[in-house]
Amino acid sequence: MTHPSSGRPVDDTAHAHDAEILSARWPTLHSQDYEANRLLRLAPAAEYERLAPHLETVRLTRRQLLYGPNEPIRYVYFPQTGVLSAISHLHENRAVEVGTIGNEGMLGLPVFLMSDRAPLEAVVHVPGVAKRVSADTFRELLHDCSEFHMVLHRYTLAFLTQVAQSAACNRVHSITERCARWLLMTHDRMQTDRFPLTQDLLAIMLGARRPGVSIAAAGLQSLGLIQYTRGRIAITDRKGLENAACECYGIVRQHLDRVLPPDAQPATPPASS
Ligand SMILES: [Zn+2]
Repeated sequence: MTHPSSGRPVDDTAHAHDAEILSARWPTLHSQDYEANRLLRLAPAAEYERLAPHLETVRLTRRQLLYGPNEPIRYVYFPQTGVLSAISHLHENRAVEVGTIGNEGMLGLPVFLMSDRAPLEAVVHVPGVAKRVSADTFRELLHDCSEFHMVLHRYTLAFLTQVAQSAACNRVHSITERCARWLLMTHDRMQTDRFPLTQDLLAIMLGARRPGVSIAAAGLQSLGLIQYTRGRIAITDRKGLENAACECYGIVRQHLDRVLPPDAQPATPPASS
């Protein structure tokens, strides 16, 4: 038996601690001036400096299992690019995405919320790069990062809003609308118009059967909004894709930008007296 989303055996222990570490190759990445993750960008400079020595940059590979359901969470991840998915596993080998995390957020909210595990699986669905810190170190660092606490509280609210809106979306909106919404959310998190994405993964993300997803993707392609070839998507008409998506995309994005403004400057440390 395999995890439907990750494709790995359920007893596989090749988890994220095996991830390729890029920090040594790119030592200058730990500068807040070049920070691609919104939460780390919003941390006060002094608190970012406390976190930075403990962050390591790792590659996120497609279908990489970061943690399984009810497994101890070893690392907290701050994606720079790529998309991570929180997956709920159901009977009959069904898997449904219940939330996504990109460079606007953090994977490992249970650690912030005083738990060491969650009944969900966390998988890389679109490859990229993330900064990570061990869960134990993160808990200790948070004691001295009171302002960053507030940033994470606001992100928790934004993530809950995303999950709640997705529940309504999955109940009411068409596969085509949801497909367009998901592609827009992914486009926001990537720094490119092209990214790898198989229809199998798209079906999990949309909680739909693959034939329905194929029809939806073909419909968006026939309108000239995307190009879909050999497991890669190209966004060719962003405005048209926004028109094809349901209102859920705008609701979630506007809420996120209100509670965590994307262009906000990091808080400056208080002046010493
Ligand atoms: Zn919707």
